[in-house]
Amino acid sequence: MLALQGITVRYGPLVAVSGVDLSVGDGEVVALLGPSGCGKSTLLRTVAGLVPASSGGVTWDGADLAGVPVHRRGFGLVFQDGQLFPHRDVAGNVAFGLRMQRVDREARRKRVDELLELVGLAGYQRRRVTELSGGEQQRVALARALAPRPRLVLLDEPLSALDRALREQLAVDLARLLREAGATALVVTHDHDEAFTLADRVAVMRAGRIVQVGPPAEVWRSPADVETARFLGCGKVLAAERAARLVGVASRVGLRASALRVDPGGALAGDVLERVHRRDHVRLLVSVDGDEFEAVAPVAAAPEVGERVRLAVDPDGIAVIG
Ligand code: ADP
Repeated sequence: MLALQGITVRYGPLVAVSGVDLSVGDGEVVALLGPSGCGKSTLLRTVAGLVPASSGGVTWDGADLAGVPVHRRGFGLVFQDGQLFPHRDVAGNVAFGLRMQRVDREARRKRVDELLELVGLAGYQRRRVTELSGGEQQRVALARALAPRPRLVLLDEPLSALDRALREQLAVDLARLLREAGATALVVTHDHDEAFTLADRVAVMRAGRIVQVGPPAEVWRSPADVETARFLGCGKVLAAERAARLVGVASRVGLRASALRVDPGGALAGDVLERVHRRDHVRLLVSVDGDEFEAVAPVAAAPEVGERVRLAVDPDGIAVIG
């Protein structure tokens, strides 16, 4: 088990990470989620041993890692851009850590085959990595990291260099691969969909601190504070009294775009101010009760600007804050 206690990291006068406590249990996948610049990568690099902590400690199964260099921690690293060795073929890349461990040739070959099978690249052994697609390169990077059976895998924005459609598919694949490998992992991402797809628990970071830790469903349903709710897609925040009147929840809530749906039987009424066609729905801006709200409508039955509509509340679009 990985445990971080009171980790603070300074770059000169800048405090990049501040008093972070966190644990990652055996076989658990934890995501560090937060906006760019909040200190996620710095924290990951401190765990890896690449950046020293100014104070606090990193332990594995209770043993302090302070004096242990990067290559002796038994951790596997995967970065955003893969960082493969361009002059080695796929097998040569995947076998790298095994060669460092002086694993013999036959065992190496077997393990490389196993890993390529796992990441869906069986038969790619002799391919040049420079001729692979971005998604394939990241699979090779993951296979390389997993090959020496690391006790912890550290992934820093492993999918963010890929285009969106591929990223969504690969996030699902990566979640499955980590489970199949039984990996213990800490993954950095700024994308909440990715964090929720990958992780057993999500640690939300802001300005160097962890502000909330919990399973995806819990963080999604009840963000710790208003800023977290906004980061998780709640464009609008209602005070308790107003929330009770409009959406029937007697506490402060955040509303996502999907919280209000056009529905002839809905309890709210409003006037459509704007409409924008999205992938599989129409997004509206509706004036309700003297205030503006986002709402969604099916493409086939979307109202026009200026129309009076009725809106129903979808509980999945509502986050109870605090
Ligand atoms: P994130 O991964 O959440 O985007 P980082 O950990 O990369 O955040 O950065 C946290 C803060 O530390 C930022 O303000 C960033 O500019 C700063 N920072 C990161 N790396 C260095 C460095 N090597 N030297 C000085 N400042 C750094």
